[in-house]
Formats: sequence, C-alpha cells, structure tokens
Amino acid sequence: MTILIAKAIWVACVIAWYVIRFPYQRRAKKAVVAKSSRGVRESILLTISLSGLGIVPAIYVFTGVLRFADYPFVPALAWVGIIPSLFSLWLFYRTHHELGRYWSVSLEVRDQHRLVTSGIYRHVRHPMYSAFFLWALAQSLLLPNWVAGPSGFVGFGILFFFRIGREERLMLETFGEEYRAYMERTARILPGIY
Ligand code: SAH
Repeated sequence: MTILIAKAIWVACVIAWYVIRFPYQRRAKKAVVAKSSRGVRESILLTISLSGLGIVPAIYVFTGVLRFADYPFVPALAWVGIIPSLFSLWLFYRTHHELGRYWSVSLEVRDQHRLVTSGIYRHVRHPMYSAFFLWALAQSLLLPNWVAGPSGFVGFGILFFFRIGREERLMLETFGEEYRAYMERTARILPGIY
C-alpha cells in the first residue's frame, strides 16, 4: 500500500457512492412531497457535510494546499481502512435500495410515505447515517492528514447532530405510535449502543 493507492481508493469510493445515489437523486426530483423541512438551515448543514466528506479531502488529494497538516503515512492504517470503506458502500447501497422512493437528501415526507422497518432498518433506525459515519472512519484511515482525514467526522457529525432530533420528530408526527414502537425496539445508528 502506498499513499497514492490510498488516495485512489478514496476517489474510487466517492465515485461509487455517487453511482449508488444517482438514480435515487433523479427519481427524488419527480417525487410528490407531502411535508418538507427544506430551507436555509438544511442547505447549510448539507454544505457543511459535503465540505467535510468531499471538498476538503478532494483538495488534499488533488492539491498540495493542506500539506502543512500531513503526518507520516502508515500502510497498515490504510489497509485497515479498506474494511469500513467496503462495509459503508454495501450499507449505503442497501439503505438506498430499502428506502427506495422514500429517500430524500433533506427531510421530506413523500406522498403515501410508508415507514420502512425491515431489512437493515430492523436493526437500526438510521442505517444510512451509520454508513456515513463508517465512511468518515474510512476517510480518516485512508488519508494521512490532520485536516482532510477527520473532516468527514466533523462535517457529517454536524449534519447528524443538528438533524437527527428533527428527523425523528417528523417521523413521529407522520407515523405516530408506529414510529414510537419502532424507536423502542431499535438504536439510532449502532445496534445496542446508540
Ligand atoms: N435516517 C435514515 C434515512 C435517511 S434519508 C437513515 O439513516 O437510514 C432521509 C429521509 O428518509 C427523511 O426525509 C425521512 O422522510 C425518510 N425516513 C427516515 N427513516 C425512515 C423510515 N424508517 N422509513 C421510511 N422513511 C424514512
């Protein structure tokens, strides 16, 4: 493993994430929305998340601007990073597949929205967010830079903690007792822990 290969793995995974999401994004544009929390707040949070998971690490990978924050590359860390990379891609794929037409980049309730509680959603309520945290972990293992590595955790962490309460309130308003019971039997992102 070399630093160039670790960077190439990061780029390949970002492309794979995009390929997985693209069809759902296209479909979401045509969806009939019943309730939406889209607004300035959501746009700011999405921009922060995109910066941490995409823009900052891309600046590191493609330019020398962040060189001041480099630390020595440890091949073993990058090898270990392949595990959360692949696991997060698989989880990202599963969650998109299972949410199907109910997926949205911001908080929305679709026309005739149903609560998904099966498959991956049987184990945690927010497996797509678990996938993002796993990917943030992979990023920090793959990129030996104190800014570009942890920026995914910071960026997505901000989106997550400012969104999660609102998302669960929206689900409670929409699905009532069904979501309350679902909350009681599941964790948010890590089975049995959180
Ligand atoms: N938080 C979920 C979904 C992220 S996509 C996850 O991490 O897997 C965001 C949209 O999914 C929200 O607008 C919400 O309407 C919808 N959503 C969240 N949980 C859902 C569920 N269990 N069933 C159906 N839709 C859900």
